[in-house]
Amino acid sequence: MVETAESAESAYHTAQAQLRQVAARLDIDPGMVELLASTKRELTVNFPVRMDDDTIRMFTGYRVHHNDARGPVKGGIRYSPMVTLDEVRALSMWMTWKCAVVNLPYGGAKGGVIVDPRSLSERELERMTRRYATEIDIIIGPAIDIPAPDLGTDARVMAWIMDTISMQRDYAVPGVVTGKPVEIGGSLGRVEATGRGVLYIVIEACQRRGIELQGATVAVQGFGNVGSVAARLLHESGARVVAVSDSQGGVYSPEGLDIPTLYAHRRERGLLPDEALDGMPHRDVTNAELLELPVDILIPAAIEGQITADNAARIQTAMIVEAANGPTTSGGDAVLAERDIYVVPDILANAGGVIASYFEWVQDLQSFFWEESEVNQRLQRIITRAFHEVSAVAESRDVRMREAAYVVALQRVVEAIRLRGIFP
Ligand code: NAD
Repeated sequence: MVETAESAESAYHTAQAQLRQVAARLDIDPGMVELLASTKRELTVNFPVRMDDDTIRMFTGYRVHHNDARGPVKGGIRYSPMVTLDEVRALSMWMTWKCAVVNLPYGGAKGGVIVDPRSLSERELERMTRRYATEIDIIIGPAIDIPAPDLGTDARVMAWIMDTISMQRDYAVPGVVTGKPVEIGGSLGRVEATGRGVLYIVIEACQRRGIELQGATVAVQGFGNVGSVAARLLHESGARVVAVSDSQGGVYSPEGLDIPTLYAHRRERGLLPDEALDGMPHRDVTNAELLELPVDILIPAAIEGQITADNAARIQTAMIVEAANGPTTSGGDAVLAERDIYVVPDILANAGGVIASYFEWVQDLQSFFWEESEVNQRLQRIITRAFHEVSAVAESRDVRMREAAYVVALQRVVEAIRLRGIFP
């Protein structure tokens, strides 16, 4: 990502500024705003790990709880050399809003360890994960804080955390993390849930904006977990996916790409492989070009900061559905607003993942597991309802969907705090 003034600004500062902006419009009590601008609890842990060559290496990790007024806190664990406490704070606050906007009984949390997981062997990664889990054990648990995967972590890491906490407690505690393998208490449908949620959002948004989904042209930036599933399901629903990309660049065909073939290859190989494109009419495009293609629906599903003040004026679409987290900078968003391009914001559009995580936790607590069709139906019901609630606020207050989503989330959290009161 290009380092700009926008991206250099601390994520926590951005998150607090967003909160204050919406709170000011809602006339929320200043004391309440300060409460929400602060995190509830921040744990920093410095811990040793014995490396394969028998040396000892120190690591630093964090777990932050932003607000638990609506229930136990929830949020991913990130392994990245770029992790900072400020970033973890911001991400925990965004989780509070994401859970509230889709009305899950959760508050927001986030965690991270400063490490490049690819620099560790599998055994080192396991030892580091188990030690980090033990260090944060004092503030996680099915009734307190339920971590999940994020950048650099996966189902395997969640299995190690679940096992570590279970060893400390002396009994199996599957509900302590979500995103686990299905064999040890994971949920069917979770892997696809974020992309599937994007499909459900697109269906509703098209209806609302008078776009016929059959034959609508779609460009998807990022053919990863989220983007590839969204592209496949949109294709199956009759949309014409004309462009997809990965970090190396993308492909474009105005007649529509053969998404099932690309999807099958990606599942086997991980990237958009050249041989999958053999005989498929297309031309190569860069990621920057993909964003500016003339399409009905644009789905950024890769990384943050892709639609900026620099390129937003050249975007030629009627609708943007933010599958990635933070794909639009505030400068880019202002240009899209001026041009009246409809944007479904990330906290709503990609909430399918956390909704399915919630289902996983519910199933773990009940030791009763659902069919995949039940997971998908419930997901559709929850995300569709949230879409309509946010749309109603956008209409009644005459604001953009992003602001409306924040209004819905903030009102729910403020109301929970008001009802519970300030202890003692
Ligand atoms: P992923 O790593 O599986 O896929 C990311 C895709 O983006 C890959 O195809 C990668 O090649 C591509 N990419 C990477 N850098 C790029 C660049 N500079 N330009 C264009 N493409 C690039 O990740 P994912 O799990 O699909 O997550 C994608 C986005 O969705 C992230 O912003 C993530 O935070 C967000 N998200 C994911 C989930 C989930 O359940 N996985 C849930 C909510 C939000």
